[in-house]
Amino acid sequence: MKIRLIPSNTDGDPEIQFLTSLLVDQSTLFDAGSAGFSCHEVALQKITNIFISHAHLDHVASLPSLLEAYIAFQLPPPMIWGSAETLLNLKELLFNNRLWPDFFELGSPKKPLIRISESVDYRPIPLDGLRVTPIPVSHVITTQGYLVESDSATVMISSDTGPTTAFWEIANQQKRLDAIILEVAFPDSMQTMANAACHLTPKAFGKEVAKLTSHDPQILAVHLKPWLRSKIVQELQDLNLKKLVVARSDCDYQFPDTQIGTN
Ligand SMILES: [Zn+2]
Ligand SMILES: [Zn+2]
Repeated sequence: MKIRLIPSNTDGDPEIQFLTSLLVDQSTLFDAGSAGFSCHEVALQKITNIFISHAHLDHVASLPSLLEAYIAFQLPPPMIWGSAETLLNLKELLFNNRLWPDFFELGSPKKPLIRISESVDYRPIPLDGLRVTPIPVSHVITTQGYLVESDSATVMISSDTGPTTAFWEIANQQKRLDAIILEVAFPDSMQTMANAACHLTPKAFGKEVAKLTSHDPQILAVHLKPWLRSKIVQELQDLNLKKLVVARSDCDYQFPDTQIGTN
């Protein structure tokens, strides 16, 4: 399974991440914060399924641009998966003819501009070569993390979350677990803010990882607030977690064999 963090800043710094998009095996996108702004035309055309964990702007900002690309390519749009609440938020708050044209109304049954499908907690979704199971996590709005399985690897994606439970229970139930992509947003000095926003600090991140009892997977840290990044990285290093990597957008993360190569 190959995972790539899509770049989300204009000066090309692979460490800075304003927006969230993770591309798995070229065809399945987890969140659309930046993919519609950053992906090459060929890469975009390979995306067939998009999972939206929640409707916060850093996870949906490029979705209109991404769907416009498919109109330009004259291709059917990718399937957008989300919880009932997330899909409702997209309809009412984004594609509402105020923030963006209403793609639900503009398309036709034969030529839709947008396609949606509900992703129900704990119900596996079989895709071509992957199986995705949404798991509820603990954020300020309804948010789904994911269990992502292929024939050769199992990876979990936390999306945005504060301290949470079901995600780690599912992790401990797996026969194999190659990697966890785990958020951390604020430094320890901003714990009060992290609590209010339902995000993790490095200290809370360490406590979450300690909930793993049956596996020792690679841990990829994501979602570091750009202007607080150096402090967060320093505090993550102080956790002394041997298999912790702060994710960059110029690497392919390959599982089960983690080979971090710059492209
Ligand atoms: Zn969020
Ligand atoms: Zn976020």
